[in-house]
Amino acid sequence: MTGRVLVTAGASGVGRAMAEAFDRAGYDVWVSDIDPAALAAVPGHWHAHHADVSDETQMRALFDAIRAADGLDVLCANAGIAGPTDAIEDIDLNAWRTCVSVNLDGAFLAAKHATPLMKVAGSGSFILTSSTAGQHGYPFRAPYAAAKWAVIGLMKTLAMELGPHGIRVNAICPGAVEGPRMEGVLTREAAAKGMTRDQVYRGYASGTAMGRFVEAHDIANMAVFLASDAARLVSGQVIAVDGFTVNPDPKL
Ligand code: NAD
Repeated sequence: MTGRVLVTAGASGVGRAMAEAFDRAGYDVWVSDIDPAALAAVPGHWHAHHADVSDETQMRALFDAIRAADGLDVLCANAGIAGPTDAIEDIDLNAWRTCVSVNLDGAFLAAKHATPLMKVAGSGSFILTSSTAGQHGYPFRAPYAAAKWAVIGLMKTLAMELGPHGIRVNAICPGAVEGPRMEGVLTREAAAKGMTRDQVYRGYASGTAMGRFVEAHDIANMAVFLASDAARLVSGQVIAVDGFTVNPDPKL
C-alpha cells in the first residue's frame, strides 16, 4: 500500500476521478460526500463516509474514523459548489455564504482535522482544489471566485506553517471540466446571456491555448503526482490544469 488518502466530495465528478487514480496507484482510499446514492455506488473496497465539508461535527466524526484506522497520508480537500451565476447586485447573501462555506470552510475544516494526524506522522500532503477562477477572477461568479482565491491564500499559509512538520500543501486549479457540473453552468450562463449552450461552450474553450475543456482524469493525475515522492520538494504551489487560460473573460 502506498498510503491512505481522503478525497472530500469523492463520490462523483473530479473527486471520484481522483479517488480512482489513487486506487490505481495503490492507496487505501477514503471518500466523503453528501450524496448517498453516489456514495453507495463507489467500489466496495473504498471507505465511503457521509460528511458535509461545511459541518464541523460531521467532519470531526469522519476524521475520528480515519484516526481509528491509523492515520492519513494524503488529503484531497476537493469539495466545492458552483454557487450563483449572477451580477453582483443580484447575489443573495445566503447564496454567497453557502458557496463560500462549502468551498472555503470545507477546505479549512478538512485541513484543520487532517493536520494532527499528519503532524504525528511527521509527513503528509494536502492537495486543495481551487480553480482558474481563483487565479483570474470570474465575472458573474463572485462568491465562487472569492472563495477559490481564498483557498489559495489558505494553501500558501499552510504550506509555510506545516512545512516544518514535513507536510506539503499545494493547490490545483482546474479549468472548465467536461461533465454534469459544467453543463449546469453552461445552461445557466446561456440563459443569463441570451445565448445557446454551444456558444457559451465555445467561448470557454477558446479562452484556453489548448482550445478545449479538461477532463476529470487530467486533474486526478496531477493530484497523484503531487502526493508522490516525485514531488517531495513541491509545496506552496498553485498548479493550473486548464490547457493554459489565455483569456479568462472571453466576451461571449
Ligand atoms: P460536482 O458538482 O460534480 O460535485 C462532486 C461531488 O461533490 C458530488 O458528489 C456532491 O455530492 C459533492 N458535494 C457537494 N457539496 C458537498 C459538501 N458540502 N460536502 C461534501 N460533498 C459535497 O463537482 P466537481 O465538478 O467534481 O468539482 C470538484 C472540485 O473541482 C470543486 O472544488 C470545484 O469547485 C472544482 N472545480 C471544478 C470545475 C469544473 O468545471 N467542474 C472547474 C474548476 C474547479
